[in-house]
Amino acid sequence: MAWKTVKKIKDIQRIQPNLPDYDLTCSTFSWENIRRELDGLPDGRGLNIAHEAVDRHANGPLREHLAIRWLGGSGTVLDYTYRDLQEQSNRFANVLQQLGVKKGERMSALTGRIPQLYIAVLGTLKTLGVFCPLFAAFGPEPIYQRLQMGDVKVLITTENLYQNKVMGLRDRLPKLQHILLVDREEDAGEGLWSLPKRMAEASGSFTIPATDPEDMAVLHFTSGTTGMPKGAIHVHNAVLIHYMTGKYVMDFHPGDIFWCTADPGWVTGMSYGIIAPLLHGITNIVDEEDFDAERWYGILDKQKVSVWYTAPTAIRRLMRMGVEPCKQHDLAHLRLIHSVGEPLNPEAVMWGQEVLGLPIHDNWWQTETGGIMITNFPSMDIRPGSMGRPLPGIKAEIVSRVAKNMVEVVPEHDRVGELALKPGWPSMFRGYLHDDERFRNCFADGWYLTGDLAKRDKDGYYWFVGRADDIIKTSGHMVGPFEVESALMEHPAVAEVGVIGKPHPMIGEIVMAFISLNANFKPNEELRMELIGFGRKRLGSVVAPREIKFQDNLPKNKAGKIMRRLLKAREVGMPEGDISTLETESGEE
Ligand code: AMP
Repeated sequence: MAWKTVKKIKDIQRIQPNLPDYDLTCSTFSWENIRRELDGLPDGRGLNIAHEAVDRHANGPLREHLAIRWLGGSGTVLDYTYRDLQEQSNRFANVLQQLGVKKGERMSALTGRIPQLYIAVLGTLKTLGVFCPLFAAFGPEPIYQRLQMGDVKVLITTENLYQNKVMGLRDRLPKLQHILLVDREEDAGEGLWSLPKRMAEASGSFTIPATDPEDMAVLHFTSGTTGMPKGAIHVHNAVLIHYMTGKYVMDFHPGDIFWCTADPGWVTGMSYGIIAPLLHGITNIVDEEDFDAERWYGILDKQKVSVWYTAPTAIRRLMRMGVEPCKQHDLAHLRLIHSVGEPLNPEAVMWGQEVLGLPIHDNWWQTETGGIMITNFPSMDIRPGSMGRPLPGIKAEIVSRVAKNMVEVVPEHDRVGELALKPGWPSMFRGYLHDDERFRNCFADGWYLTGDLAKRDKDGYYWFVGRADDIIKTSGHMVGPFEVESALMEHPAVAEVGVIGKPHPMIGEIVMAFISLNANFKPNEELRMELIGFGRKRLGSVVAPREIKFQDNLPKNKAGKIMRRLLKAREVGMPEGDISTLETESGEE
């Protein structure tokens, strides 16, 4: 296999990594020992994420330590110590209780990265409510799907997002009883509350009720290929992985300043943009703004970021800017850079080494795993292009599906198969909400099947090959083709639609739709633009197709299902593979 290892050129050995010896740590590892490093609720009342992340520090020597530094778009900087976070999240917990939110009921946020979001997450976890994050760039349709499927009772949002995206959905969302508006001074009736007013009136004291580690904590929607998004259920016990990967992967040390660029609307932004750094009592940087090369280098420099967690799309954008913008900044404090979400190309690892002074450590996981599963550990030399090796306590294999519900482990190295994990790690999803069958279908012969194709080299490093299904990864975000197809089908011109991920050098894949038109519509540029606009309005910019092609007679299998795989193969000029099930031939316009 063609790989070179990369050694770090910065003298980061000044800090001894938390995992100096991989084999030794794996052989002596136990989840019980990790549990012992956490506090648990007083008087043996269980394990609660918010207690471990906030209260235990606020009640101890880190009380006045900076927990979150928020960088606002307009230049405002807001600092929250662990004591501040405790007090604010207590208030929020009391607000929820006054609204009648009970254990297991869902609370959601559509806000962008503002301080209230972080306080709401922690406050919700304190009440034993379940937090169900939303991405603010979603259009009304993805928002509706998630609020409806999640049975969300309370939503926190801004006046603007409410007016533009939520108000028109309320008739269809009878379970959504309360909306907390972050920028409204007075309550407005009809379940519309002023969050500042409610927070000011609420008490700053709150006692977290007894929490079973198996109590539901977070509901994360993720995309599937065949249906609408599915809500992956996560429990408070996931805190063990968040803590353990904070220790062994992020290599947090006291005094670290950490910046995770992911939005909490996605699992990385929740697990690592909120929970993991707080568990370790370090400082977490939150930037309200989206990617901007100059701003980002400025943050790394001025905030003295020591550990940085970002994504390949962002790294490729920085690479495109060249060396100059980086040269204007002092990145001496940076000790570790991590990446997740899509394949990290070897050039990006090397670019990190040359331009940032540090190689980039790729890691792999997904919404269902709840935390990092495979990584290039700080104490190991990186193999550029590889996702790394499994975490202690995590057993991975490459398997091949031999029949429905039957898999065989592929013993040889360098053979492509599906990446599978042995169930039982603490942050494994406990189900898809209201969809037991889809959950069961993720397992076979005692393995959790990830849906990713990969191979393992002779030294146990895993290499990503691709998805085994049609899920699209665009700018690191999962998009389910079915969700896009369903929205486009609502346009009167659309007779049939097939959606694929078309490879793109910068953002991984773009969402592309092939559309066949109803009889009285003609394919032309005006209609194409109208459909692009229609998609954007319904779905939002991340999910909507960027490219649309008109095509009569989309290829279908004998069961009448559009063959997305074939559409993709033809679009990118790949071999068409097995087309024995093809029923109709396509004819392009
Ligand atoms: P999500 O559930 O949205 O976090 O997406 C998870 C999926 O992203 C995985 O199943 C992979 O397909 C992809 N992914 C995550 N991390 C990596 C990585 N390091 N390399 C390649 N693909 C990745």
